[in-house]
Amino acid sequence: MTTNAFASLPLSAAMQANLAAIGYAEMTPIQAASLPLILKGRDLIAQAKTGSGKTAAFGIGLLHPLNPRYFGCQALVLCPTRELADQVAKEIRRLARAADNIKVLTLCGGVPFGPQIGSLEHGAHVIVGTPGRIQEHLRKGTLKVDGLNTLVLDEADRMLDMGFVDSISEIIEQTPARRQTLLFSATYPAGIEQLAARFLRTPERVEVEAQH
Ligand code: ADP
Ligand code: MG
Repeated sequence: MTTNAFASLPLSAAMQANLAAIGYAEMTPIQAASLPLILKGRDLIAQAKTGSGKTAAFGIGLLHPLNPRYFGCQALVLCPTRELADQVAKEIRRLARAADNIKVLTLCGGVPFGPQIGSLEHGAHVIVGTPGRIQEHLRKGTLKVDGLNTLVLDEADRMLDMGFVDSISEIIEQTPARRQTLLFSATYPAGIEQLAARFLRTPERVEVEAQH
């Protein structure tokens, strides 16, 4: 077993088997740097370029403490666009395949509310969406996040560029204070530092350079 093998992590046997089944043997550098901290429950700022495997880092992390028997939102992933939210949801579903009946729901703008509200009434363990639509569901009361364990800000730099800071803040203020917050970004502009200072609790910071 090499040092970066997923087998070195304290994951369930089902998750280990599923990772092997989908062909993930070695952790990528950002996964190796972040997953031990994520699994300990630490807040994290993780910076690594596109294509480095950030989705599985937080995906494995948020699935780890999930309770399949509680059909409320336990993990919320905020993404800048619908395309990215769809990709993230797809990867989390793949990672969750071995677990029993984990429901992953995407909530993005540009589509009617009705079907989303219907899906929310059936319950979802993991919600992936864009800040504007998530904020609207919270305002309508159609989404509740008081049972949340894990909040992920994916591509946080792009979400700030797109002007989502107020939506993100309003969303976070409705989540439990004892949540774990994971911030992923390809770059580290000043706005990220400010966001982290407001919403992360003594975060660890991991950064992986372009080469891997
Ligand atoms: P990022 O979010 O950092 O841009 P992604 O999470 O989209 O990157 O991952 C990029 C690609 O790497 C995806 O196709 C994913 O399936 C693959 N990948 C992620 N982790 C691993 C791994 N440990 N081993 C092999 N492939 C991986
Ligand atoms: Mg990504």
